[in-house]
Amino acid sequence: MEVKKEFFDELEKLQLHNDAIKEIILVHGGVKPSTRITLSGSQLKSFQEFSREYGLYITESDHKVIAKGDTGKGGWKNKVLGIVDKNSKEGDPSYYIARSKEMVDEAKDAEFLDSNKFGQSLGYPKCCQEFFKQYFILANKKQCDFVLYTLSETKEDYPYDFYNNYASRYFGYSLLSHFPCSFNCKESSNLAKNYYEMLKKYSKKWANTFLYCQKSAIIYTEYRGIFLLKNFELDGNVLRYGDSYWLYSTIINKNLHILNGANNILINSKNNFSARKGERVLKNFRGENVGLMIFG
Ligand SMILES: [Zn+2]
Repeated sequence: MEVKKEFFDELEKLQLHNDAIKEIILVHGGVKPSTRITLSGSQLKSFQEFSREYGLYITESDHKVIAKGDTGKGGWKNKVLGIVDKNSKEGDPSYYIARSKEMVDEAKDAEFLDSNKFGQSLGYPKCCQEFFKQYFILANKKQCDFVLYTLSETKEDYPYDFYNNYASRYFGYSLLSHFPCSFNCKESSNLAKNYYEMLKKYSKKWANTFLYCQKSAIIYTEYRGIFLLKNFELDGNVLRYGDSYWLYSTIINKNLHILNGANNILINSKNNFSARKGERVLKNFRGENVGLMIFG
């Protein structure tokens, strides 16, 4: 336990993205075979030192990825525009991390040779790998984000399994690192629970922040922001939130202003809902680029 606490404290000092910290812990804890992250030049140097000390292996990809920043998602990049040689001036390299030299090489080799094996080496469930392949062409026509496809594949009523809240990654906290095939995917949920249990051993306080963010309601729009709400009540087809405000937003825009001025959402369907103040409609959200998800 002490080693884990020390590991977390030291890792936190490297000032990596929250998502990278999570991935590194899951590999160190042994619940994930390997992971792939991006690091800046200075982060790489300090992480190399760190990994030598704690017995982790890291290797750089033979290529660089040119990714496009999504519109309205706070700097997140989903879409790959091209793959270039590692010596190219453009693009960013990826780094693979594992607990053994074999595992790290395997993840690196698998990425371009065999997408199934690569998914496996990163620990993704088969059903979700299939889902990714099925929707890739469609998703890639936009910003290569799969959240709305996961939503359309979720056939049950609200609330969805909060362990599978992958939309909260836009706010830095998501236990999963793949798009689940449904927000109620059992395999993903079990994975996320395992991940949570492991993170808790390193820092309970930090691990609980994931659950805090994931037990939420999220309004997702493809281009006009993603918004996260805490403290709400689902009353039939009305999501009531009174004086609560939308705690996190990937953007400051008119949508955020409207949502904060409203106090409930009338839900016609998951892709058609209205922000209201009392009975008065302030804005209708409707169409293939918007979605409402409620996790509990
Ligand atoms: Zn699945």
